[in-house]
Amino acid sequence: MDMNQHPETIAISAGRPEVGPDAALNPPVVLTSTFHSGGEIGYGRYGNETWKALEDAIGALEGGSTLVFSSGMAAISAVFSILPIGAPVVASNQGYSGVMTLLNSFQESGRLEVRFVDVVDTQSVIDAMKGAALVWLESPTNPGLDVADLATIISAAKNLGIGVGVDNTFATPLVQRPLALGADIVMHSVTKFLSGHSDVLMGSLSTNDPALLKRLQDSRSFNGSIPGPFETWLALRGLRTFPLRFNKSQESAKILVERLKDHPKISRVRYPGFGAIISFEVNGTAEETQKVCESSALIAHATSLGGVESLWERRRRWPMESLSVPEQLIRLSVGCEHVDDVWDDINQALAAT
Ligand SMILES: *Cc1c(COP(=O)(O)O)cnc(C)c1O
Repeated sequence: MDMNQHPETIAISAGRPEVGPDAALNPPVVLTSTFHSGGEIGYGRYGNETWKALEDAIGALEGGSTLVFSSGMAAISAVFSILPIGAPVVASNQGYSGVMTLLNSFQESGRLEVRFVDVVDTQSVIDAMKGAALVWLESPTNPGLDVADLATIISAAKNLGIGVGVDNTFATPLVQRPLALGADIVMHSVTKFLSGHSDVLMGSLSTNDPALLKRLQDSRSFNGSIPGPFETWLALRGLRTFPLRFNKSQESAKILVERLKDHPKISRVRYPGFGAIISFEVNGTAEETQKVCESSALIAHATSLGGVESLWERRRRWPMESLSVPEQLIRLSVGCEHVDDVWDDINQALAAT
């Protein structure tokens, strides 16, 4: 592979079968639970040709060796599973609610000692690192869209010999490549932008450390958190157009941010300046905000993000969402529809309250 290629090209060309007369252009969906003996894989929980194609493609985009998992949470769980009991972990005090719930449960059971920090406050993150086993960063955060100074935090952690993992789901490798900044692990909810069609759940971990890769792979093999070959094939099919979709959605998001800022019914717009997720606050009550989400005709009222379909929700409708997220906050995932149609729908939904 030509490592100087652009991500738009890599997403299309990586993870293909070897070229030859009548060789298939696309990898096959290898539906088998076992393999004839004598080879390197042996059993369907240890490896699969379809996984390898997607792993090669995500790995080429992130610049590291990659493992795919049955969901983003399965990938994150594999990272925490290799830490010793009681290991100190530094993590954002605001982030994806599933991860917050998992970390809180580890904290309560004593499985891990979690030090929650405000990722925007770089010095407080660095101050919390002493003696930690891992710094787990999500940037931008979900749904607050706070941005961490990854370069400074990662280099401080490296100076102290502490491992760093980065959830790159929101920024994607088109915006930032944490492994190049020195992170040990980069994680994706492949469910979101990389797959992009709201039809598959999957996760990934990438690393440049062969010993770490082996431990994470063992975690996947023996926890059994493996993706199905068919889902993996769908994710790879989606990945081919990930840069096209992401660039289009990002372009629309930038236009929508400007229009939302001027809307009298909106009190605050959060947008990190890149990406396709916008979080904004409605000038009204939780009920009125809920009504806005329920009044859309084009935008799907649903959770998740990163698909070709625009969708939104009031995050606090989930009991497990952090109390620091305002009741009036709507997280909008901008899809690939015409931006004016999305805007018209936002406008009429806001007018409905
Ligand atoms: C969705 C999401 C996850 C969890 O991924 P699943 O594929 O739903 O398990 C983790 N981190 C972030 C930032 C997410 O948006």
